[in-house]
Amino acid sequence: MDDPTLKCSEVTKAYGGLVALDRGDLEVHAGEIFGIIGPNGAGKTTLFDVISGVSTTSSGTLVFEGRDITRLPASRIATSGLQRTFQTPVTFPDLSVRDNVLVGGYFGGNNSVAHDSELRTEKIEEVLGLCGLEDVGSKIAGQLPVIGRKQLMIATALVSDPRLLMLDEPMGGLNAEERQFILDLLRDLNSSGMTLLIIEHVMSALLSIADKLLILDYGRVIFEGRAKEALEDAKVVQAYLGVEAESLRN
Ligand code: ATP
Repeated sequence: MDDPTLKCSEVTKAYGGLVALDRGDLEVHAGEIFGIIGPNGAGKTTLFDVISGVSTTSSGTLVFEGRDITRLPASRIATSGLQRTFQTPVTFPDLSVRDNVLVGGYFGGNNSVAHDSELRTEKIEEVLGLCGLEDVGSKIAGQLPVIGRKQLMIATALVSDPRLLMLDEPMGGLNAEERQFILDLLRDLNSSGMTLLIIEHVMSALLSIADKLLILDYGRVIFEGRAKEALEDAKVVQAYLGVEAESLRN
């Protein structure tokens, strides 16, 4: 098999006496849609935080496209082809939607987009269209509904052409129609070659797109493998899925 795009080895993150992530291993390969699930407080966002450099690991190593990123600051990781979104939509609420994406264009590491104003304008309009924001580019970001702010976070990440996009609960708090929009967008991004790592509680939605799953419980990996196999795994059913496992199998 090819070398993994992202490899986390024995990654631990402790906050004082609390071990939020305990020797976690993860391998994501190019072109995969990889889902991460687990109960509240299981360590999912902590894993995203250490991969993206928002916080540093207590021990373990992180390698992205063959390069050790374990100790790199978030600003360097963001320019290496890896972008992330956050569980709670993060935007510059007083800037327009278009200007929010522009900020991503300046700092996201795609040199041509950062330095060529014509290309940047083109790229911004392209990602606004892709994310369904073409009609609200001039609107102030703080006025957008939750779905709009989620679309905007994704657009701001996409303007830098990431090869790996990490999404923290992209469908949380959305209604069925809005979830479908995000699912279709994620499928399109993946079809265009982008590797996706997705934390999501909406299991039915995640299972409909994920090739593989990592399941965390109390900071430990209790399952890593094919998504469908998770539904048959006794530990997973006991720790997380419970009675939902039956309906998800159908
Ligand atoms: P959720 O599904 O609720 O978002 P999660 O699986 O993403 O949960 P984390 O946010 O990674 O869980 O939290 C894992 C544990 O680490 C929790 O007990 C949380 O309270 C703790 N934790 C997270 N961030 C910090 C921090 N900055 N300082 C102290 N403890 C933290």
